[in-house]
Amino acid sequence: MLEVSHLTKRYGKVFANQNISFALPEGSITVLLGPNGAGKSTTLKAIMGFLRYEGNITVDGLPNKGVAAKRLLGYVPEMPALYPNLTVAEHLEFVARAYRLKDYKAYADELLDRMELTDKKKKFGDELSKGMQQKLSICCALLPRPKYVLFDEPMIGLDPHAIKELKAMFTEMRAAGCTLLISTHIIDSVDALWDQALIMQAGQVLAAVDAHWLEQAGETLEQLFFRLTEQSAEGV
Ligand code: ATP
Repeated sequence: MLEVSHLTKRYGKVFANQNISFALPEGSITVLLGPNGAGKSTTLKAIMGFLRYEGNITVDGLPNKGVAAKRLLGYVPEMPALYPNLTVAEHLEFVARAYRLKDYKAYADELLDRMELTDKKKKFGDELSKGMQQKLSICCALLPRPKYVLFDEPMIGLDPHAIKELKAMFTEMRAAGCTLLISTHIIDSVDALWDQALIMQAGQVLAAVDAHWLEQAGETLEQLFFRLTEQSAEGV
């Protein structure tokens, strides 16, 4: 279980996250939705331990900033951060060495194959298109087989084949017991995939809903999103 408790992050006078709490149940897919500036990326960065904040975040009961928790976490940032002077293959080797992975090559090849990067193995980071960079960033995050993976707008820039593969990978990872948190603006892209949805606005979580609950309530995720975010914006 990954637990975020009373997370508050301020940038000057702006509350990027304002006292938010939620949990990611094990083996589930949670989607994080919200308008621009709602605080989604800040939440993911706080979980990864990249920021200073108030509140408490634990991963399987371990403090998120400790090495033991970091081994459990994978992260696909909104903007791929690659090394211009390393090739595609060297990026994966770098990750494998950092995590001291043994016998990683078959899985690295599988990931590259699924992201259609096999013929780009010798290309340098700065020779890749934006979409290819995003695909490599996904491969690097998944190579250590993290138990929890945070994806920040993972579909942006991907071609239809990669989107289809990535969606299949989401469900395969969940079936293997992984827990995923996916921030996205494209509600359609996560339809039928998610177990829990968190809807954020102005640094707060407006709702945390279960897929079965929403289905029984007869509302779509898109309808709920607009109902909550437009209502809340009117109330401001
Ligand atoms: P988007 O959908 O546009 O990516 P988001 O929901 O991911 O948005 P965040 O990037 O978390 O939103 O930003 C939340 C708020 O925090 C915004 O008001 C933003 O301007 C502010 N913010 C984020 N990063 C910084 C920073 N490094 N310095 C100052 N303010 C920041």
